[in-house]
Amino acid sequence: PSVKSILKSSSTNDSMQRAGLRKTALSFKPASFLLIVTVLTVSCAPSAHPDSYRTAREQMVKNDIEGRAISDPAVLRAMLKVPRHLFAGSKNIDVAYSDSALPIKENQTISQPYVVALMTATAELTSTDKVLEIGTGSGYQAAVLGEIVKEVYSIEIIETLARESSKLLHELGYKNIKVKHGDGYQGWKEESPFDAILITAAAPKIPEPLTDQLKTGGRLVMPLGETRTSQELIVLTKTENGLDKRFVTRVVFVPMTGEVRNPKGEDS
Ligand code: SAH
Repeated sequence: PSVKSILKSSSTNDSMQRAGLRKTALSFKPASFLLIVTVLTVSCAPSAHPDSYRTAREQMVKNDIEGRAISDPAVLRAMLKVPRHLFAGSKNIDVAYSDSALPIKENQTISQPYVVALMTATAELTSTDKVLEIGTGSGYQAAVLGEIVKEVYSIEIIETLARESSKLLHELGYKNIKVKHGDGYQGWKEESPFDAILITAAAPKIPEPLTDQLKTGGRLVMPLGETRTSQELIVLTKTENGLDKRFVTRVVFVPMTGEVRNPKGEDS
């Protein structure tokens, strides 16, 4: 590209700024000119662009999230921002923005984008909230939460997944998300109470230690059901008088394992 085309590509309506740019461009020495050209070329190449999946993500949000009546602006913004292709695993990279759950390591799944958005919207989050997630998996839902709330605590029962998602979230700069390896059934008592809790694996019953760790007014969103075909996404709101339960929709999640199915003191 010529100096002229560079000037043209950095188009701005501000003529003062344009004049300033021209002056600067003309005073470049050849070496710095070459450097600028290289930087411009590299940063414009789609494959080298750090977010060349942006268009696919925009389509996903428009068709599968907004298109299915999710309108919470914070949720839409978060879904537009989080690079799902980095959480879905290299094998799934080409289909990372399809609206489906995808297999990840250890026989687990990254949830369907619509369901992630629905659970997040159902939790009615605000930017000052402290949230607990049970079932970190790929870390995708945690990242979406991390874009919206102040602090996210996430527990994953499979060590490899806890370690890898924690590393990825760290690399992506999410300083407000903490991941720990363990059974989420008992929650994260030291950090309780929480404004909201999301369980992203299907439990046959409501884990009582988790409702205990909700603030009054807090929401617990979870798939409840014994088998794959019997799961209902529900939201429980903690009130002064107990828990209000509301049915959201039918869903299919991988099972919540550990103490919820095998209470302590009982043999498996
Ligand atoms: N939220 C995840 C979805 C992961 S699938 C994502 O966005 O990718 C559900 C995850 O819950 C699995 O990784 C599974 O290992 C985990 N899990 C199941 N039972 C659990 C338990 N008792 N405590 C913590 N994690 C659990």
